[in-house]
Amino acid sequence: MQIFSIFGDPVSHSRSPLMHNSVFKHLRYDACYTRTHLLDGEKLKETFFGLGLSGANVTVPHKEAAFIACDEVRGFAKKVGVVNTLVNENGKLIGYNTDADGFMYAIGEFGPIKSILVLGAGGTAKALVSRFLEDDIEVTVINRSEARLEYFKELKCEAYTWDNFEVKEYDLLVNTTSAGLKDENLPAPKELINKCLNNSNFVADAIYGKLTPFLKLAKEMGKTYKDGADMLLGQGVLANELFVNNQLKKEDIKKYMAKSFLL
Ligand code: NDP
Repeated sequence: MQIFSIFGDPVSHSRSPLMHNSVFKHLRYDACYTRTHLLDGEKLKETFFGLGLSGANVTVPHKEAAFIACDEVRGFAKKVGVVNTLVNENGKLIGYNTDADGFMYAIGEFGPIKSILVLGAGGTAKALVSRFLEDDIEVTVINRSEARLEYFKELKCEAYTWDNFEVKEYDLLVNTTSAGLKDENLPAPKELINKCLNNSNFVADAIYGKLTPFLKLAKEMGKTYKDGADMLLGQGVLANELFVNNQLKKEDIKKYMAKSFLL
């Protein structure tokens, strides 16, 4: 039997074991998925091999440590320096990033998107913005503080703090801040958020499992919106495909992973 795990701190809240075990169980794939509370990111590699894992996911705060731990990093993860999926390939640790493609999958139902206004400038924003730029999407970033904006300016995005920002029109408005995750904060002052919402066709939040104050406003304005659940599902489906080395059908993985969301 193959064993998979999620590494994080904290990790008890993670939905990944439910999602992946649902796929393994229903498709009779001989594997199980567990969780590992890892305090020290530097111990990631030895813990992975010590547990005899075939693969793993990595969550906050170890995604950068996972990048460093890998023997080889492939695809988009190489570009952003952030790894969320690990695969044991003949004793070598191979790293991937499925978060950004998971988000692209989530917004697919909105149709073609040409311009995006991103709220926040943290790790999630970095991965998503780099991915948006690959698709030639016009990206504007606004953040509470100045310091994190430099990265985006170097990517040739428009990047502002709340004070020096003038709203234009956007296909999609995305919240990548953690405002609203454990509190009832908006990602920016209410007046500014209202303006941004008014000038955007679609709205998305990376946070899942609750209607954030930001999404509540979007709902009140009658916008088409979605929370981060589909992003979570999208990254999970792509990770599972890597775990089973494409031996299962994507549609089946998606079906049974989505089923676990109802538990
Ligand atoms: P980071 O800590 O890297 O970045 C946090 C960002 O939020 C910063 O830009 C910070 O601004 C901003 N911020 C925090 N609090 C506030 C506030 N009260 N008002 C305005 N801005 C605020 O976090 P991550 O990028 O790792 O994660 C961001 C969110 O994305 C989390 O809620 C996480 O749960 C979610 N997420 C969801 C995923 C999914 O699958 N659905 C996958 C990955 C992440 P400043 O620079 O000024 O501090």
